[in-house]
Order: sequence, then C-alpha cells, then structure tokens
Amino acid sequence: MKKEELTFTPKNCWDVYAAAKDRKAMDVLAARYMEFLSVCKTEREVVDYVVEKARAAGFEESAAADRQLRVFRGKNVLLARRGKEPLSKGSRLIGAHADSPRLDFKQHPLYEECGVGLAKTHYYGGIRKHQWLAAPLALHGVVVKKSGEAVRVVIGEDPADPVFTVPDLLPHLAQKQMERKLSEAFEAEKLNVVLAHEPPAAAKGKAGDADRDADKEKDKGADASPLKRRILEMLNERYGIVEEDLYSAELQAVPAGPARWVGLDRALMGGYGHDDRICVFCALEAMLVGAAPRHAQLALFWDKEEIGSEGATGAKSRFFEYGVQDLAAAWDPEARLSEIFLEMRAVSADVSAAMDPDYQDLHDKLNASLIGCGPCFNKFTGHRGKYAANDADAEYVAWMRAVLDKAGAPWQMAELGKVDLGGGGTVAKHLAEYGMRIIDFGPAVLSMHSPFELASKADLYATVKAYAAFLAA
Ligand code: MN
Ligand code: MN
Repeated sequence: MKKEELTFTPKNCWDVYAAAKDRKAMDVLAARYMEFLSVCKTEREVVDYVVEKARAAGFEESAAADRQLRVFRGKNVLLARRGKEPLSKGSRLIGAHADSPRLDFKQHPLYEECGVGLAKTHYYGGIRKHQWLAAPLALHGVVVKKSGEAVRVVIGEDPADPVFTVPDLLPHLAQKQMERKLSEAFEAEKLNVVLAHEPPAAAKGKAGDADRDADKEKDKGADASPLKRRILEMLNERYGIVEEDLYSAELQAVPAGPARWVGLDRALMGGYGHDDRICVFCALEAMLVGAAPRHAQLALFWDKEEIGSEGATGAKSRFFEYGVQDLAAAWDPEARLSEIFLEMRAVSADVSAAMDPDYQDLHDKLNASLIGCGPCFNKFTGHRGKYAANDADAEYVAWMRAVLDKAGAPWQMAELGKVDLGGGGTVAKHLAEYGMRIIDFGPAVLSMHSPFELASKADLYATVKAYAAFLAA
C-alpha cells in the first residue's frame, strides 16, 4: 500500500474514470442500465430481468450447480456462485430491493364520476403525493384468474399506447388548499387514476359491439355505471379478465415512459425507481463477471423494502435463510448454519440521499454525500439517536476501506441528513440479525422517491466496480 494521505477527500468518479477506455465502458454500461430502468418498473419485472440475465450467464435452478438461481413467488431472487473455499470459511453477499414507491390499484378500483371512468389507488411506500399529479402514468402488474393463469399487464409504455393520469386541481380553485399544511393538502383518497371517458353508446360501431349490445340488453336497468362497464369490456377484450379478477390483481400505476438522459452532457440519468433498481443492476453486473471466486458470492433481491421489509417476500422473511440452508447442504454439508452466517460479509446495497443543491441546509455538509463521488457508505441508518439502526462495526468498515482502496474504487462516507431532521432504514438490520458483518453501501441519488429520480452515470460505473471488488475480496 502507498504511504497514506494525511487528509481524506472523496474522489470524483469523473476524474477517477477519465481514461477513454473507462468512459467508453461507462457509456455502454449506462445505456444497458437505462434500458433496464425503462422496462423494469415492478418487482416482478425486475426479477424476470435478473433471471433472464443470470440464466444466460450459466446460472441454473439446480441445488447441485456451482451457479445457482432461486426465485421465490416471482418477487425475490437469490443468486449464488460457489467459491473455492467452503461456505463456512466466509462468503460475500449483496442484498438490494426491487420494489419502488407507486400507486397500487385498490381491489375494488373501478368507478365513474362526472363523465370520467377512474380507478381508486392506495399508495405504496413513501411518496410525496403532489409529485404524482398531472403526469402521465403507465399501468404495470399482474391479474391472476381463478384458474391460476397470471395475466401480465403493461399499458402506457409503447409510444402507441394510451397513458393514464391523476388530474390536479387548477390554481384558480386551489386557494384553500394552498393555505393548508403540505401533509394535509393532498388526500390519498383523491389519488385516482383516469382510465376512460367515452361512454358505450358513443363508442358504438367499434370492435366487439355485437357482444356488448347483447350484454347491455341483459343488464338493462341494472347498469348505472356505463363507463365502468366500458372499462371492464376493454380489459376483457385485451386481457380476458372480469371484475372479480381484480380482487386477485396487483396493478401498479407508475410513471410512464422511458428513463431519459438529463443535462446537456447526458451525464445524469433521470427515471423512475433508481431506488433501488440501480443497486439491483450494479449487484447483478458485478455478480456475472469474473473468474471462479475464492469465497462464495451471493446476490439477493427483495420486495417490500419500501413498506418495512414485511411479508413472505420482504427481507424479514425466512426465504434467504432457507436458501442458504440448501446451499450449505449442497456445498458444505458438514458446516453449521450459524458458522456460515457468522462468517458472511455483506453489503446492504441501497441508495443514499445526495446533497441537494437547493436544500443543503438539511444536510450536515461534513457528513453528506455528493452525486458523482461514488457509492456511499452509511455506517448506520435509523433516525434520531440512531434508533432502529444497523451500525456496522469499525473493524468491518476498515476492512471494506482496504478492499476498495486496493481495487482503486472511489467511495464516500455519509449520513442521510442532519440529525433529528429525518432518517430512514434499509434491509441491513434484518440481515444483521444473523450476526453477519453488514454495511449500507450504494450510490447517492437526487429527488429520491420522486417519479423522476436522478443518478450519475459515473456513480453507476463506480458502483459496479466497487461491488465487484467486494465480491472478489
Ligand atoms: Mn431503497
Ligand atoms: Mn426507498
């Protein structure tokens, strides 16, 4: 190791990766990421993408394989690569989450008012409600019929598709609303998505009319919601579903359209769900490269992080434990599960809040992360007096520093914001329960949880490098 510098300044990734070869690789990686972010807008879509890429890289759904892939309920996936050392002599794990805040359709979504057909929503995760108004939305999800058949829904992404929207109040009539507290001004029950407008009679002459007229005749007098009926007819034509099927549906209204380059230099990436799909993508990229590793490598992608890691597919579930149990049985049958967990080293790969140029006062500048300065460690998360934090021990932070510096990978160290101003948690504390060493480590983003989050192309590149260095260490 070189003689150490007396003072530490985070390195800017644009300087670290100034070489033409790095810039070229950065562009190729970023283009692939933008494509991924544009297409994968639900946890299920992310899992499908991961499975496709992993299979192509030789991962199999077989307990005997050296490269394994295990999917759970279409919403979790565990990837594992066997190392030269036994599992109980240490392994490397990167965990990230595939869900993002959005507007979920309620189970009874459809109704009509004032000449428009709408869907009621129930927001998922921490959204700032006003950011979801008066913007084009797409509908992604799954409807499962009684037969068990799962119908995939994606409307609003193809340029030829229609989009949907939650209308906002005009300023002329918003005077009372503007006097209210922001937390009270926007009501969850008003986050309703416009789905249709043309009533069935006016739609006469269009496809499917003969059937519709026959149905109408049958329901004469009982049909007080012609627009709702029209919506159901269109869904039935397109997907073969009926109203009752919506009870067993997971339909998510998400920002419509592809991720976009931001800035004259196209150096920033704007899109929905960088939190935490950028970490999923970087972990996957890092996982699929390199020769047979010394220590086993694991990547784990969850659902439900945005609502507290609950449920069978969240990080509090036992899916991961069961997966490691099976890996142990195949790769290191003599080992005790506790040995394996205690020797595991992990990264909770989640995004950090970059210092916002317009709200710098909310950050402690000495302990804030900057976009473009590489993935950011949060030694601890939580809020107030470090409540509900995973706090990585100093020994582990030192080891991580050494790993990254040896690989020449830039990184920074920060907290989420000023103490007592807010806070947040990640999956780290749930994994820490196993006694493994774990720390939060991921790129810093701007506009986190908004429909159009910003991440740096250079951070994306740096994060893949850093995760690869960690996995190989
Ligand atoms: Mn996150
Ligand atoms: Mn989040």
